[in-house]
This record gives sequence, C-alpha cells and structure tokens, in this order.
Amino acid sequence: MTSAGRWFARIVLTGVLPTVCLGLFAWIMHGLAWGWAAAALGFMLMVIVQSRRLAHLAAWIDYPDRSNFPDSNGVWGEVFLKLSRKLRLDARTIDEVEARLRSFSDAMVAVPDGLVILDASHQVQWSNRAAGEHLGVRLPRDAGAIIEQLVRTPGFADYLRSPDGSAPFILQSPAARTRVYAIRAVPLGERSTLLVSLDVTDARRVEAMRSTFVANVSHELRTPLTVVSGFLEHFTDDAGMSGDQRQHFARLMSEQTKRMLSLVDDLLTLSRLEAEDAPASEEEVDMEELLAQLLSEGQSLSAGRHRLAVGCKGPALRGNRKELHSAFSNLVSNAIRYTPAGGEIRIRWKLRDGAGVFSVRDSGVGIAAEHLPRLTERFYRVDRGRSRETGGTGLGLAIVKHILLRHQATLVIDSQLGEGSTFRAEFPGWRLKLAV
Ligand code: ADP
Repeated sequence: MTSAGRWFARIVLTGVLPTVCLGLFAWIMHGLAWGWAAAALGFMLMVIVQSRRLAHLAAWIDYPDRSNFPDSNGVWGEVFLKLSRKLRLDARTIDEVEARLRSFSDAMVAVPDGLVILDASHQVQWSNRAAGEHLGVRLPRDAGAIIEQLVRTPGFADYLRSPDGSAPFILQSPAARTRVYAIRAVPLGERSTLLVSLDVTDARRVEAMRSTFVANVSHELRTPLTVVSGFLEHFTDDAGMSGDQRQHFARLMSEQTKRMLSLVDDLLTLSRLEAEDAPASEEEVDMEELLAQLLSEGQSLSAGRHRLAVGCKGPALRGNRKELHSAFSNLVSNAIRYTPAGGEIRIRWKLRDGAGVFSVRDSGVGIAAEHLPRLTERFYRVDRGRSRETGGTGLGLAIVKHILLRHQATLVIDSQLGEGSTFRAEFPGWRLKLAV
C-alpha cells in the first residue's frame, strides 16, 4: 500500500468508520430514520472537528513556532508532528546554507585580488573591496554603472570587447599612478563576465630591478674588457713594440683583469647571500682576534699611508665568522680607499645600551647627506672615478647590508662632506656572549 493509501485507511478507520457504526447502531435500535440522523450528526461532528484542526494548522503555518504548536492527537497529531519536524529540518538547512553563503561572500570581499561581476551590458552587478582600490569601483555607489565609464583607461573598452585569454590588460591605478594592475576578463555563465584584477606592482619592480642589474653588470664588465681587447690588438698589430711598452701594457691589462675578477667575486658573494635566508652555520666569534685580523689586512691595504687603530671592549659575537669578516673588511677597505693619505681610521667593537656596536671611523672625504639613503644600492657610487681608481665594484655596501640583515643587525651611517664618515653595525643583545 502506498503512503497516501495508508493515511486514507487510517482516516477512514478513525473517523468515517465510527460514524457509520453509530448510524448502524441507531438504525438497529430505533429504525432507519434514527440511523440516518445519527450518521448525519456524526459526519457533521467530524466535519466540525476536522475544520477546527485545519484552521489550527493554517494558523500555525502562518507563525510556525513552538508556542502555538497545535495540540492534537491521533492522525492529526501525527500530521502536525511530522510537519513541525520537516519545518525544523528545513530551517536548519536554510541556516546552514545561509552561513556558508555568508562566509563565501565574506571571503570574496576580503580576497586581495579585485573582483567585479558584470552583466551582459557590462553593468556592475557586484564587486569586492580590492576592486575599489584597483579599479575605483565601489558598491553601492557604482551598482548598475557601466564599467567602461568607470575605468576610462584607453584600450580597456577594446580589451573587454574581445578579451585576450593569454595576456592580461595592464592598468596603472587611476588614483595613485604608482601601482600597476593586471586585469583579466573571465566569462561567467552565459551572459556575465568576471573581472579579476591583480596587483603586479612588486613583480614589475623586481623585473625592472633585474634588467637594470643585468645592464649594470654588462656595463661594468664592458669597460675593462674593452681596455684589455684594445691592448691585445696593439700586441698583435705592433711588432716593433719595445719591451718596456709591452710590460706597461701587460701591467694595465692585469689591473683590468683583477677588476673583473673582484667584480665577479662580489657578484657571486651577493648571489650566494641572496640564495639563502640565513648563514649556514653560526659560532661565537672572538672579536679581539677578528679586529686584529682586520687591522693587519687594513695596514697592508693602506701600505703605510694612514694611521690605523683598533679598540675592542665588547664580548664575543654570535654569527657566521666568514660573513662577519667579509662585511667588516668591506667597511675597513672603504675607509682606507676614501681617506686621503695621512688620514686616520679607527676600528672599534663595544657594548652600548645592551647592543654590540662595530664601527669604522675615518677622517676621509665624507659623503653628502643626499647620497646616504642610496649608498647600499648595488652599483651606487658617489664618486665613480674614485671608486674605480681604488678598485671598487660598487657592490661592497650592498654585501654589507645583506650580511647585517642576516644577523638582525642594522647599518647606521654618519658622515659630513669633507670631514669623514662613521659606519656602525649594531647587533642585538641576544647575539652577544655576556658574562652572567
Ligand atoms: P665601492 O666599491 O664603489 O666602494 P661600495 O658599495 O662599497 O662601493 O660603496 C658605495 C659608495 O659609497 C662608494 O662608491 C663611495 O662613494 C661611498 N662610500 C663608501 N664608504 C665610504 C667612506 N668610508 N667614505 C666616503 N665614501 C664612502
């Protein structure tokens, strides 16, 4: 029996059958007229009872909460109970779907990429927060606006008309022209379009830096290579060259080759530093010993032209000895190279306010304030000629900055034009081996 058949049988058994029985009973006891009268009364009563329950049900469905739940038993009671259970289940499902929809829409609003949904006539249907920054589309203000009228960059309308699947449309931010966005139009269903905008400013900056770097390296290598190749031509063309001349040219070629070698060395050091986030190993570096080494290397580089002094009053420093030596010796070599003969250079290691401070002070040429913020950029030089003459690669301070960063240290530069400079590397207290 089907479910509807079962319900019908129950209604007949509990409502119709007793009424019929009542009619039959009255007929047997009092005659046919009484029988009909009793059956009619029974049916009327049944109709009244069913109508009342139907009215209760209708009222409850209008406001289906527990307080006005129709109190009934029998078939109607079961119907009410089933209905109420079904409604509760539906309400829970709706709540769940709503919550899921809310969190999905929250996520869409919060994603860092700009999202705009357009209808078939390119009217804005929906957009998220990032779209406001990227494209200047803001809801509710721009709901229904035509996107081409909001983003008026030349070429954008053409791109929207026939979006190129392989290449995005590149847009400079309409508000601040400093940011760059890549925009893609993706078909959404039959008639809508999803616009996705991605902030590619940093990627473009890195790309620009990379190509500047390659151009710089090529330029740096080109000069010595041109000199060497010029001398080599002389050697081959000029058979009557004297021995002295040959020696002179050979010496000049060797200088240029050394310059290329030190450039390649510095480039390799930089790329190694960039490849790893932290030094491969760390140890407690005996600073007294390291400063003694720096002094002797400095003296040999200065060849007696400067007065050099060291002062070591700080504890051992935790770090990678090779890297620390490379950073500190770069600072010492700069001090010597940018200090005229007769000048003074002081190398110091001391404890100040709980931090370890390594400093190199010179009485050299000094640096004008406007150059200070850019000194650690690769290939940035204040005086190109002097840097080249003294064998500089323009990468020394970039290496220093990298090494200090890996040791959580900061580089502070104090300098006055014509009065000398002080380069200070300040290390955090936890890197020092302090006596307890
Ligand atoms: P370079 O190989 O040219 O010395 P660096 O990166 O070591 O490159 O230094 C960048 C620039 O900073 C130098 O070209 C120089 O102009 C300036 N500089 C660095 N150290 C000193 C110093 N002690 N005194 C004056 N100028 C300095």
